[in-house]
Amino acid sequence: MEPRVRRAHLAGLSDRVYGVRVANTDLIDALAADGALSIDEFEQLLATYTAADRDHAASKAYRIARQQFGTSLTAWGVVSVSNVCTKECLYCGLRRSNEQVERFRLSPEDVVTAWAEGHRLGFRTVYLEGGDDPELTDESMEHVIWLVKKQFGDSTVTLEFGERTRGTYERYFEAGGDAYVLRHESADADHFASLHPRRMTLANRIRCLEDLKAVGFSTGCGMMIGSPFQTPAHLARDLAFIADFDPASVSIGPFVPSASTEFADQPAGSIDKTLFVLSLVRIMMPTVDLPVLTSVATVHPRGREMAVMAGANVVMPNLTPTVDRAKFAPYDHKIVSGAEAAEGFEILSRRMAAIGYSIGPTAPEPRHR
Ligand code: SF4
Repeated sequence: MEPRVRRAHLAGLSDRVYGVRVANTDLIDALAADGALSIDEFEQLLATYTAADRDHAASKAYRIARQQFGTSLTAWGVVSVSNVCTKECLYCGLRRSNEQVERFRLSPEDVVTAWAEGHRLGFRTVYLEGGDDPELTDESMEHVIWLVKKQFGDSTVTLEFGERTRGTYERYFEAGGDAYVLRHESADADHFASLHPRRMTLANRIRCLEDLKAVGFSTGCGMMIGSPFQTPAHLARDLAFIADFDPASVSIGPFVPSASTEFADQPAGSIDKTLFVLSLVRIMMPTVDLPVLTSVATVHPRGREMAVMAGANVVMPNLTPTVDRAKFAPYDHKIVSGAEAAEGFEILSRRMAAIGYSIGPTAPEPRHR
């Protein structure tokens, strides 16, 4: 357990004099060389970084991403399957008690139709997402995954359906699921508790993540930047957790408040810190998939471009039927294009081309860890 953190601690003790403050740029270089830092060093970076430190990290992350992926971005085609949820995450506009939400659930045929368009556009990873919807039974999910795989055998199926039992994860995997994203949200138990209702715990979230890996999924974790009560110490723990867990992807985006939650008056997370953390993760894990989340574009009109220049390598065009797309809104002012999938993809492609990137036709082979 904890080989990377242990290694980082040893590196910190042997290569850097304990107790003597090291320049942030030197810590960023050490992160590139060692693959991790001690928690204290991560905290120093997050608490004291300057614009020059951020630029140093961004240029390093940019170079690493270009070496790994060239100028081609991978597309994960998003299909929001259901916005029905029985849970009460304190930050989420889709929580059960929000009666303002117009709920929807796609039929398996709707999902396949949406993905057929993404496949036609050249995408090879479908990203199915949904809340904790009791109607999405194991059988119905198996059916959806099976249908997608049957009709589009070269597709990678990535799932984001929250905390489930190990038995359910096994069924999803056996049906053909390849990857699963479950953001850990905070690696600090108290901070995690401050964002979730009492019956949700960090211990169970970690159990789910470990189950997903053990089952065979390419497993992704991640967290919001600037979530309520978050401190540099919390984010430092998140980075140490990511180093230890060695995920296949890390989903990082700014917190954006939802008016229907008790965090409605909290400020949104900073784009600047979000980009800095993205760069740190890219430097720490050169090959990890770093998607550009919609929340990045929500807090800054050029957020997607800035995230790519900071080290992200995946874009997420939305394939959900336009009639339902805006209803999947965990936070306010979510950027939702009313354009049909092909038109939206063309706009996104043009924007990425303007910064020197194309959106690649294929995804890498599914990785099972
Ligand atoms: S974060 Fe997910 S599980 Fe929590 S309330 Fe929102 S949709 Fe439901």
